[in-house]
This record gives sequence, structure tokens and C-alpha cells, in this order.
Amino acid sequence: MLFRRHGTFSGGIGLPDEKEGLVDGPILPAPRCPRLLVPLAPCGGVAARPLVSPGQRVYQGRKIAEAADGWGVDVFAPLSGVVKDIGIANLAGQEGFVSCPAIELEDLEDPQLPTVEMPLDFDWRSLEPAMMEERLAGGGLTTQRLPVLPLAAWLERARSCRCDTLIANVVEGQPYVTSDHRLLAESGKEVVEGLAIIGRAMGNPRMVLAVDERRTGHYRRVIGSAENHDVGCIAVSHKYPAGADIVLASLLTRRAAPQGGDTMDAGVAVVNAAVCHAVRQWAVCGQPPTHRVVTVAGDGISHPGNYWTPLGVSCAALAGAGDHLVHGGPMTGLRCVADAVVGPATDAVLRIESDVSTASSQCIRCGWCVDHCPVRLNVSALNDDFELGQVRHAARAGSMRCVECGVCGYVCPARLPLRHRVRQLKKALAVIGEETVMGSSP
Ligand code: SF4
Ligand code: SF4
Repeated sequence: MLFRRHGTFSGGIGLPDEKEGLVDGPILPAPRCPRLLVPLAPCGGVAARPLVSPGQRVYQGRKIAEAADGWGVDVFAPLSGVVKDIGIANLAGQEGFVSCPAIELEDLEDPQLPTVEMPLDFDWRSLEPAMMEERLAGGGLTTQRLPVLPLAAWLERARSCRCDTLIANVVEGQPYVTSDHRLLAESGKEVVEGLAIIGRAMGNPRMVLAVDERRTGHYRRVIGSAENHDVGCIAVSHKYPAGADIVLASLLTRRAAPQGGDTMDAGVAVVNAAVCHAVRQWAVCGQPPTHRVVTVAGDGISHPGNYWTPLGVSCAALAGAGDHLVHGGPMTGLRCVADAVVGPATDAVLRIESDVSTASSQCIRCGWCVDHCPVRLNVSALNDDFELGQVRHAARAGSMRCVECGVCGYVCPARLPLRHRVRQLKKALAVIGEETVMGSSP
């Protein structure tokens, strides 16, 4: 079995790759850091209850906080060190950075690559889905992408939506970002096994590994493992945003998510390589998800790389302090705030110094945004709706179908922040619901 090539979609754009040195470079241990702020509420909600107190020495991989409710997860020490205090960390969320309590660790051991763990003495294939779910619930596992959810809650929803397809989305279309790519290239067997474990917990859906067509040469060793676990391998176009979940799911299954819904509403569950790897390490080796691969790159970084990074490291410790840090890819990422730390969803920390924002001007009706929108929205008309405060009109025009890829703003010659504006329209509609009409100010 090889990677089967798949057709493409209308709209989208070819972005500069900017991945020189990142596609082939091995994952490295993170640089030494003086302290960690280990988030106690990585999924939002109620913070986990600390099990340690100031002055106490903790050891890597040991549980240091216990989930306080069904929306929390247990928290494990990423590195051995000493508890200094309970502090505050800023963590990237779907709508921006949010503050949450965090255990501050200092006097840390040096970060290292993962040690080779001996598999536990059991075969996960013998577990029924319910037992597998129970096993996964204790590992502090999250979805490892935005929105960060407890894996247990995500699985529950996948089952209630009767998802019959599970896609591992390793199509990293944004410039620089290569964390999932390197994980699949170096630990492909583990990633595929993790995907199979998630599939088992979902009740054995059809499983697909989707990758960028330009990278298949890096994944040759994955193919045998995929065959063993009955995972189909598909290579998709590198046209951005082929890796947006809704676009990818529609491409591979011909099922469209309903307006305002996600892929699960169409029976398709989507995960990334990071969560597959984390699930495998927990389920098979008992190793909790205390680290993740983070791409550190950008035009302000002289030695870009992918780092095996403990959760709770400051983004500034990875990519330098200042105003130029972006959390995530350059198309959809967030500007870092002070004390932003690496969380489960941090796939990249970029230092972009060339992004000199210029003032936007009036729409010139060129139509480029419409031509390139992957879900065929009339974005310039939505921009008019934003300026006129016509939230309901925008909803009728399909604003809720926007996948927030940023292509429209990228191509706009008037430099209009179109993604942000369509997103504001979506948020406003969520606030007013179906009943109230928004005032004239957006
Ligand atoms: S309107 Fe939304 S989906 Fe369309 S290009 Fe803009 S951000 Fe992407
Ligand atoms: S790309 Fe910009 S200027 Fe062109 S139609 Fe769209 S909003 Fe207007």
C-alpha cells in the first residue's frame, strides 16, 4: 500500500513553504529553561487541584494535580524540579490567550528527548471500547489542538455523533509549521498505533492518515504499520487550506459540515499526529503527555527547529522576548501576550519580524477574496455586512461556513482584516442567536 493521491478543492492558495531546514531536521530537546508554569486548566473550566506544595521536589511524569471536574484533566510534572508557588500562565485558546492557574516549577533538570519506554504488559487490542475509554481517561490526555478539550469528552461526542470515519490530519499547510510532520516522520509507528487506539475507543470507524503530497517520501516506514492497523494512507494537495478540518473531511468523504457545525456533525472525527502519539505513549507505555513537539521558526529565528518541549515553558524562552511572537501558524496564529506558555495545542512559536502592518483601505471589488475562499463565500459582501452591522444578513450569506483560514485577508490588496471581520460576524451571531437583530455597530 502506498499513499493514494486525492483530488483537490476549489479556491485556496499556494503559500510559500518556508520550511527549509525544518522538513528534514530531527526533533531536538528544548533549550534549557529556568522555570515552568504548568497550566492547571489546559482545557479551560475548573483548575485541577494541586497535589504538591511549595518547596516540594517533584519528579518527571508524576501526577502533580488532579482533575477537579469532568472538564478537567490530571496534570503531570514535565520535568523534575522544585515547586516554587502557584502562579498564573497565559494559554492560547480558541478566542485568544486566557489566564489560568499554574504550578510554578524551578530548579529544573535539563530537557531531553523522550526516553525509550518499555510497553506495559497488556495488549490494547483485547480491550473493549468502553474499557479503552476508561484507560485513556486517567492519562491527562487532551485533543492537543484548538479548541483544547479533554480527550474523554471528545471521544464521548464522537460516539454520540456516530462518527464512522476518523482522520489523522497531518496536512500542515501553513508556512514554517512542521511539528506534526516531524513526529510522523520520526515516530510514525507510534502515531499510527495511537490513531488505531483512538479508533478502538470510538468503536472501530474507518481510519485515514492524510498527509501533504510533498512529504510522502518521509513516511515510507509508516506504511507497514498503517497496513497492520487497517489505516488508509492518502496524500492531498498542498494547496492551503487543505488541512482545515472541514475542507479535508469534505475532500475525503464528500460530506459537508452543516453551517456553524464541525466535522463531527457530518460523522467525521479529526485528530492530529500529536494526540495520536500522546495516546499511544499513555495507553501502551504509561507515559503521560507532559511534552509536545513545537516548531520554533520565523524570519527572526536564525536556527529554526522542532523541539520536544515540556508544557509550561514560556514562549519567549523558546523564541526570544519582544512583540513579534506568534503562537501557531502565520495564517491563523495568535500574537503572543506576556507570560504566554506552551500548552497542549502549541504546535509552533514563530518570530515574525517582517510583518509590518499597513493601514487597510476601502474594498476595490477585485473579487480575489471570493475567488480564493475555499468554502465559496462572497467575502467582500460579508465585509460590507461587517461594516454595516448586518449580522443576520451575513448569516444568511453563509458566514457560519467560514473555516477561518485567513486566505481572504492574505490575498486582499486593500489589506482588509477579512478573517477577523468574518469571525466577528460569527461571534455576534452566536450572541444574538436567531431572535435579536444586532445594532448598526459591528
Ligand atoms: S471567508 Fe473564511 S473560509 Fe473564506 S477565505 Fe476568508 S477566512 Fe477562509
Ligand atoms: S480582496 Fe479585498 S479589495 Fe478585493 S474584493 Fe475582496 S475585500 Fe475587496
